[in-house]
Amino acid sequence: MSTLEQGIQKQIADWLRSGEIELFIGYEAGTVPLQATPAFIRRPEDVGRLIWDATCENNLAVFLPRYKGKKVGIMVKGCDARAVVGLIQERQAVREDLRIVGVSCPGVVDPKKVAERLGVAVEDIEEAKVEGSQVLVDGQSLPLEEVIYDLCQACDRHNPIIFDVHLGEEIPEDPERDPFAHVREIEALSPEERWERFRQEVERCNLCYACRNACPLCYCNICFVDRTMPRWVYQTTRPEDVQFFQIMRTFHLAGRCVGCGACTRACPQGVNLRLFLDKLRKDTLELFGYDAGVDPEAKPPLTTYREDDYNDFIMG
Ligand code: SF4
Ligand code: SF4
Ligand code: SF4
Repeated sequence: MSTLEQGIQKQIADWLRSGEIELFIGYEAGTVPLQATPAFIRRPEDVGRLIWDATCENNLAVFLPRYKGKKVGIMVKGCDARAVVGLIQERQAVREDLRIVGVSCPGVVDPKKVAERLGVAVEDIEEAKVEGSQVLVDGQSLPLEEVIYDLCQACDRHNPIIFDVHLGEEIPEDPERDPFAHVREIEALSPEERWERFRQEVERCNLCYACRNACPLCYCNICFVDRTMPRWVYQTTRPEDVQFFQIMRTFHLAGRCVGCGACTRACPQGVNLRLFLDKLRKDTLELFGYDAGVDPEAKPPLTTYREDDYNDFIMG
């Protein structure tokens, strides 16, 4: 656990003291090893609780819609910053109301990978901490870069795109890194093989909705799965209900998902949601030249049209 840099703590305390913000959302040490927990700081004297290290996994932007209209400070990693941009675009947050501490992030630790390396269950990890580039766990030292999430190992957005105060040294992005390599593997399969891959992946889903709850862009007051008039889907773990939920959720995020990976990290069943969501991100990029979460002023492609669109449904 690393206490947040003094200069940043002071800035946050100043924002709270001056009334520029009434709440700062950051991270503090949690009770579960290798997982920091969200911290909601309202008093300048509490900023000492804030931490930053590779255990700060949650995308805190998920909390912004519920503080809409309030002046809020928030800590964001590179990927989280894109969700903040998405929320500003969708009028769920107002840039002027936010004070953003943006962190250049080398990656966050995946407790499941650590447990695998030790040959134990995640619940059996008793003592663990991140120190520099090492994870010190139950008397062993593991290189951090080997036990960060797969998404972080393929990350192309280490540095925040939006911030008022920056923390950490800028991390050079690797232009050779293909953020969609995992999607290309699936695209190379036949339609039948792709369906089988999807079927097998979502077979593990038990409809706990942790993915939806962790997603900053899943902010509907009533989710389609909870609606009863009309009822879109039955909340059973029959394959057809699970597949319908996954397909509907994925398409509801088409052109909106910023690829932060919070949903995949939150899944207790290890369902690789990135496979489906990143396919739509890749398509959106290739078909519309649109990368969600980059430009707060941009109009998402599914909410606008071009008068010179080549498709014949646009009337001249
Ligand atoms: S995806 Fe990138 S910015 Fe996000 S946690 Fe991983 S390394 Fe950090
Ligand atoms: S669907 Fe997943 S990857 Fe996309 S914005 Fe939501 S949490 Fe992030
Ligand atoms: S978090 Fe995982 S198990 Fe839960 S609903 Fe989402 S995909 Fe299914």
